[in-house]
Amino acid sequence: MSDLYFLSTRSNNEKILASQVIVRGIAGDGGLYVPELLPKIEKPMSCLEDMDYKALAFYVMEKFLTDFKEPVLRECISRAYNDKFDNPAIAPLTEKGGLYFLELYHGPTLAFKDMALSILPHLLKEAAKELNINKEIVILTATSGDTGKAALEGFANIEGTKVIVFYPKKGVSRIQERQMTTQKGSNTYVVAIDGSFDDAQKGVKAIFNDKSFNEILNVNNCMLSSANSINIGRLIPQIVYYVHSYINLIKLDKISKNEKINVVVPTGNFGDILAGYYAKKMGVPINKLICASNENNVLYDFINTGVYNRKRELKATLSPSMDILVSSNLERLLYELCSHDVSVINSMVGSLNKKGEFTITRDMKEKLLEDFYGEFATDDQTLKTIKDIYDNYGYLVDTHTAVACSVYKKYVEDTKDNLKTVIISTASPFKFPNSVMKAVNKKFTSYDDFDLLEKVAELSNCSIPKSLKDISKRRILHSMVCKKDDMGSTIFKILKI
Ligand SMILES: *Cc1c(COP(=O)(O)O)cnc(C)c1O
Repeated sequence: MSDLYFLSTRSNNEKILASQVIVRGIAGDGGLYVPELLPKIEKPMSCLEDMDYKALAFYVMEKFLTDFKEPVLRECISRAYNDKFDNPAIAPLTEKGGLYFLELYHGPTLAFKDMALSILPHLLKEAAKELNINKEIVILTATSGDTGKAALEGFANIEGTKVIVFYPKKGVSRIQERQMTTQKGSNTYVVAIDGSFDDAQKGVKAIFNDKSFNEILNVNNCMLSSANSINIGRLIPQIVYYVHSYINLIKLDKISKNEKINVVVPTGNFGDILAGYYAKKMGVPINKLICASNENNVLYDFINTGVYNRKRELKATLSPSMDILVSSNLERLLYELCSHDVSVINSMVGSLNKKGEFTITRDMKEKLLEDFYGEFATDDQTLKTIKDIYDNYGYLVDTHTAVACSVYKKYVEDTKDNLKTVIISTASPFKFPNSVMKAVNKKFTSYDDFDLLEKVAELSNCSIPKSLKDISKRRILHSMVCKKDDMGSTIFKILKI
């Protein structure tokens, strides 16, 4: 297989292979690494039917990770997608009311972030080995709630790494916070900041771009890398489940060969839906990628007007993992829309930094609308959707998945499109018991999050996931807090520099 190179979205002067890209996380010029071209799925979809999740993961990922040796990549995959997942299908597809729910929450932290973060640590470790890097790799992560726990779980006790997670003190659910603060592993660190997710993400990006900061780490034998979806090592594993859902629909005889489908993706940082876009460009017959936002509807505005405007208040919604105003991965989509013209990207990024907004060209907007549709749901609509789905089908969905369902309803009303549709189900209802149960019946409003877990189990006919049992009794192991401007010094303190 020929080598696939990666470039920064902001300059053309460097081409590197996957191992380097995964170790570095973000490009030195502040841009994001993107593949020089998107490889094609050359086998007909119907010929992939016999592959289980692991075999398919290998088939898709080796197209990108061309400098990983075959047995090494296979080993990474088998360490990631095993009985850590509570469903042998890894990403089961459940049909309810004519819709297909791709349940991506059967991993150890109950959100779709596990799909990528259970493999990224292994990829990173192997990449560092291949490149003869002897430094300690410090994984720096900003989280809106789910990435943090998934990164901690993925990197805990991985030799040669430390993982530091910053989360917005008031921006995550109680269950999410407790999942993180009870994390075991001597190389794990969790810090609450007095700001929003955007503050945390901005802080992390600034640290990555701070040359003198990185030089100090360097002389102390450390280097930074990222577990956020700015790391392409997060995105590549996510392409797999789009292919997986399509071939499952064929296998179940729900669609014929090459029949187009829609996918609805609850979106925040634009990583998940971008993986879907890559899958489409690689050859998965996807009609529309439906971008579902909550009331922080910057992307809805962007898709419908061509103007990206972050100048607004961040709202705390019932789908906190999507409470984001600056969607990092959009830069990777823009790069495709402008046919890899880095000067266009630089001017848009510059405008976003200086003026808080940018506008895409007409040509880019036309291309955008070929592949995407954008809508949003309010909290009230989200709650009503949870109740409707439960009342009609006895199926409980979490708030993020409900945003997608609510948006899908609007899409059908608007377009009358009746293609088969996959709802990307990003979190378990057990992760947001308070909102989910309140939606089903107001009487649960007064219950504590932790007591509600039993109720979710009763209503959904599923037992409480292992990872949440007794969580309220587990010892809190992390209690660091810092001001949003002190993230750098906090890192030095942790690393004893
Ligand atoms: C992270 C997350 C999202 C948003 O995914 P992006 O890749 O950031 O767009 C949606 N739902 C849940 C539950 C998440 O954890």
